[in-house]
Amino acid sequence: MNADAQHEALCRRCGISCHFAVRVNGLAVVVDELHCRFLARAADGRFHCTVYERRFEVAPWCHSAAQAASQGLLAQDCPYTHGMRGYRGKVRLGASLLRQVLPAICAEVVRVGVPIGADPEHALALVAQLGGDWDYCISEDGTRYLFFRRDAAPSPRAAAPASGQLGQAGAPADALPDASPSPSQSKAPGAPK
Ligand code: SF4
Repeated sequence: MNADAQHEALCRRCGISCHFAVRVNGLAVVVDELHCRFLARAADGRFHCTVYERRFEVAPWCHSAAQAASQGLLAQDCPYTHGMRGYRGKVRLGASLLRQVLPAICAEVVRVGVPIGADPEHALALVAQLGGDWDYCISEDGTRYLFFRRDAAPSPRAAAPASGQLGQAGAPADALPDASPSPSQSKAPGAPK
């Protein structure tokens, strides 16, 4: 196995780096519903990138391994952070703890929206857990999906109806507060880089 192959083999395909995170009590927490629209999961539970070879062309929010590492966008225990003392990356919470903080995560998503690179339908399913009839639109600057209740007064932030017309990923999406969206590793073919 050559050096590149060895490097790529470190990837666990956990997909965490390709999820968008929400900061909860200082932790960059990922939830299943908030991930890059190009991330897919195989039957064995491992994740892969569906546009790996042209990811930087079609997914401007995608980061190189070096960028992801330097910005704390890898999983906290990612093998690629080995040797980076005190690395603080993204985490998945256990089911019980996640249940406790999920309302706060949903509220934050409603407050700031999600990056345009996310799948808005999945994010909508997350927000719907707050109860009520929710929909989403694209922000005026095209960088985020914003969520609003259809059974409440129209959101002043709403720019353009977006349901069913997801269109192209526009501007590079920033992450949710503090925790960026992003992929990670290096060049694992088809893996969340
Ligand atoms: S590597 Fe991850 S973040 Fe980048 S395009 Fe693929 S799924 Fe999206």
